[in-house]
Amino acid sequence: MTDLSPRRLPDPEEAAKLSTPLTSRGAMTSSAQPPKKAGFADGLYARYVKPYPRLVSGTFRRFKWITLFVLLGIYYLAPFLRWDRGPGAPDQAILIDMPARRAYFFFIEIWPQEVYYLTGILIVAAIVLFAATSLFGRVWCGFACFQTVWTDLFLWVEAKIEGDRTARMQLDRAPWTVAKLGKKIVKHLTFILIGFFTGGAWVMYFNDAPTVIGELATFSAGPWTTTFFFLFTFTTYIMAGWAREQACIYMCPYARFQGAMLDEDSLIITYEAWRGEPRAPVAKGQTDFAGRGHCVDCRACVQVCPTGIDIRKGSQLECINCGLCVDACNAVMDRFKLPRGLIRYDSIAAQAARAAKRPGKTRFLRPRTFIYALVLAAVGGVMIASLATRDRLGLNVIHERSPLFVRLSDGSVRNSYTLKTLNMLRQERRLEFAVEGIAPSQVTIVGQEAEGARAKLVVGADRVGEFRLFLTLPADRVPKGSAPITLRITDPQTGEEARARDIFAGPER
Ligand code: SF4
Ligand code: SF4
Repeated sequence: MTDLSPRRLPDPEEAAKLSTPLTSRGAMTSSAQPPKKAGFADGLYARYVKPYPRLVSGTFRRFKWITLFVLLGIYYLAPFLRWDRGPGAPDQAILIDMPARRAYFFFIEIWPQEVYYLTGILIVAAIVLFAATSLFGRVWCGFACFQTVWTDLFLWVEAKIEGDRTARMQLDRAPWTVAKLGKKIVKHLTFILIGFFTGGAWVMYFNDAPTVIGELATFSAGPWTTTFFFLFTFTTYIMAGWAREQACIYMCPYARFQGAMLDEDSLIITYEAWRGEPRAPVAKGQTDFAGRGHCVDCRACVQVCPTGIDIRKGSQLECINCGLCVDACNAVMDRFKLPRGLIRYDSIAAQAARAAKRPGKTRFLRPRTFIYALVLAAVGGVMIASLATRDRLGLNVIHERSPLFVRLSDGSVRNSYTLKTLNMLRQERRLEFAVEGIAPSQVTIVGQEAEGARAKLVVGADRVGEFRLFLTLPADRVPKGSAPITLRITDPQTGEEARARDIFAGPER
């Protein structure tokens, strides 16, 4: 059964190794200090024990390196991709241009009026995440989440500078010396440098990348760019350098509700207790495992875990499904010539079948995966269809309220409106204007060509146009009260048209 309660209990092995008590961040207090009395807070919360994950190699580790390089490569390099959109348009492939209120993604250009596409993309991403979790467990957490990816990178940097697990534990316990201070300074400066790259890449998604580099290098970036650059540098440093697994355990809401997406056929990291127990250390030269479990209680699986848990206690909220414990345990199994997979990436259903020595395997096709696939196909289909057929011409109308109408000296009645046209093409358009529902004797659009009831509008390329419109009806055609009308603009070259509804107001009789 999945235990979803957050627990960060001290690792008994670490507790035994450390002869002096730990502070709240895991650093040692002086052994000369008297042991701290348990306070009120100590009774409520387990003390934080910092994990010191050991480096490991194996299939999951390799896969994590590949995803790390691919994802970081995309994140850092994508702002430099170019996409030709014609003269006057930004040539950055992925860009959120806040001043111009546009978002560009290769050939797709999103206007503020189309922000629902971004909502649609978020919905599709959420369904993909739910489907992936239902099928493969917390693969997002273990391999692709930005917290995991940057923490992984920072842990690697830390291991390269301070050494692997034991060396880091010893360094943190050792008194402050010049060598220790030097290592800590180099490590934190490297973290901050990675933070600079991360913050720099982030602001490049909102500004032209080469321009931003020049501005940051010459300290001439604007206040927003500078603020977000330092904000993302700082959050990268804090989240991956300090918060690490605590972000997953205490801050991430997804860790809390992902249990609802898992069932007995979801792939998760599991320990085969039926095969591993009773666990016991191996005596020197022992090769016979009859009458005992295959777990040699070496704690290699705990030592490599980035969240510091013992997967042998069962599935836990803290487990991000990274699979590093599988790599560690497989290496131990190889050493003792035991079958691999004591800790494995498997479903509870398949594991239960193996434990009972009956046939049984993971079912990937099941009602919930069908439902996710259907919802995904429906939402994705609607998104693609609406993107492919969306209008690049728009019209809005605002009726003048004060006064609602004006009676002219010849008895005719005039209404005035503000027209807002939306030309999403990168070329000027000459549009034909028409009114349906009434037959005006005169259409006037200020600054535009008009003849009797017909008018033409010239709208600039890639912009919202605003025009003042007057409609005049002769006295004998003036409606009583108001009459519904439809205003229409048509591009004779492309055949596109846009409509807006309003009223023509006359006096009550
Ligand atoms: S228990 Fe294993 S899979 Fe889970 S977080 Fe720890 S190392 Fe990763
Ligand atoms: S790595 Fe394998 S053998 Fe060692 S303690 Fe963990 S489960 Fe047992």
